[in-house]
Amino acid sequence: EGKIKRLDNSVDKLRIKRKDSDSLKVTENVFDNATLKALYTLSNKGIVQALGGSISTGKEANVFLADGEEEEIAIKIYRISSSSFRSMEDYILGDPRFSNIRHNKRDIVFAWTKKEFRNLMRAKQAGIRVPEPITTERNILIMKFMGENGKPYPLLKDIKIENEDGQMIFETVIDYMHKLYVDANLVHGDLSEYNILIDPEDITPIIIDMGQSVTLEHPRADQFLKRDIENILRYFKRYKVNESPESIYARIKEP
Ligand code: ADP
Ligand code: MN
Repeated sequence: EGKIKRLDNSVDKLRIKRKDSDSLKVTENVFDNATLKALYTLSNKGIVQALGGSISTGKEANVFLADGEEEEIAIKIYRISSSSFRSMEDYILGDPRFSNIRHNKRDIVFAWTKKEFRNLMRAKQAGIRVPEPITTERNILIMKFMGENGKPYPLLKDIKIENEDGQMIFETVIDYMHKLYVDANLVHGDLSEYNILIDPEDITPIIIDMGQSVTLEHPRADQFLKRDIENILRYFKRYKVNESPESIYARIKEP
């Protein structure tokens, strides 16, 4: 109770508007001082205009809806205290883009946030449909909101469709994996029905959650690629997709 009130005061002091009272209850343990400070900066710059409700509470991050400068945005906040610092370190250490960061938890999480931003940018430049990244501030990633009227698009795992549509989505996902590999030189590293949104308008997939994506120089890039392929083939079996992991692997690596 007291904690919520304190937070209420500090959010008010920061003059960050709230769209509903609900969001604060969820944010209670998210908004540590470092995060409040980052939100303050984003609010001062006008990037975050009003904070909306919670979209997701994951293992390492919370995602919120918010009003941006012109449109709805998604705010992904990596928790500094409860993030699995060790596994993040594994992914960061093999990445030449982050060879000189200091090895404390806070800096690793900040680097991780930047890494997701850059990965999304590279994916977008390679022609893959992802939420367009807008900016980062410490442990906060701001990106375009993928949804309509405050309602996020469904995850692949939650939709029911015909085999034909499933096969179409599968083909696009493989095309995205190929572009990601050949043009962006990245492997997603956590690709599954949990990290693919579906735009209901045209049933096209949108790839999300690229914090763990690695460049091809990473010593485990090939292992992650094989795991992504296994996950995708396992899921699309239900839509009568019966390709072998070997043939998909070859397709993705084809120049
Ligand atoms: P986590 O690491 O917690 O899995 P994700 O990046 O996968 O983080 O985001 C968690 C959830 O938040 C997703 O499953 C999706 O429902 C929602 N989400 C994430 N990014 C966006 C976005 N840009 N627009 C709409 N919803 C999003
Ligand atoms: Mn996810």
